[in-house]
Amino acid sequence: MSYAFPPAPVIAIPAMSSNPFPVRHIYCVGRNYATHAREMGSDPEREAPFFFMKSAQAILPNQSVMPYPPATADLQPEVELVVALQTGGRNIAEDRADDRIFGYAVGLDMTRRDLQKVAKEHGRPWDMSKSFDGAAPISAITPEFYTGIINRGKIELKVNGEVRQSADLGDMIWRVPQIISALSRLVELYPGDLIFTGTPAGVGPVVSGDQIEATVAGLEPLLITIG
Ligand code: MN
Repeated sequence: MSYAFPPAPVIAIPAMSSNPFPVRHIYCVGRNYATHAREMGSDPEREAPFFFMKSAQAILPNQSVMPYPPATADLQPEVELVVALQTGGRNIAEDRADDRIFGYAVGLDMTRRDLQKVAKEHGRPWDMSKSFDGAAPISAITPEFYTGIINRGKIELKVNGEVRQSADLGDMIWRVPQIISALSRLVELYPGDLIFTGTPAGVGPVVSGDQIEATVAGLEPLLITIG
């Protein structure tokens, strides 16, 4: 098969003791920690978490310098546990969701908060505040074979060595199997899909030169510098 121009190369993430993980879609869960929902002005008791997407093109490898993106003066990192799927499906039952998981990584849901604020005020889509060049830094994936099921453990974000976000994965409103099941009732899931599972409280801006260290217990730390 030949094409009008060369097709884009596959975007892949390193994986421990495995060939690289080829990325298909990136799904993200909004407001999945009650503390963060409250700091963003929502009532977590009244609202179920919801989904949005990032382009796979937004993936940024670990230890990169992320160029400060255009069109914002309020770039904010959100530390998140990322679930990587090895098989997909529709209408996946919660108790079968774990079979779909390839492994886990640490991700940053980079957000142009000022654009998101305008989008919220006007009821517009979030895409341009969440999906842009470099908006999805991610560590190498650790297969679930090594970690076991991850549903507890410390999740933390440091900027220039100072702790900004610190919580436990057990604080998530929707657990990983519930997220996979709910998402699979909205769209068909595929091998290579990534799910960012939401961030705890403590989000704030970063500026050029800042060094970000994002960690989840048992996973490779994610180190990003803002350019
Ligand atoms: Mn997020």
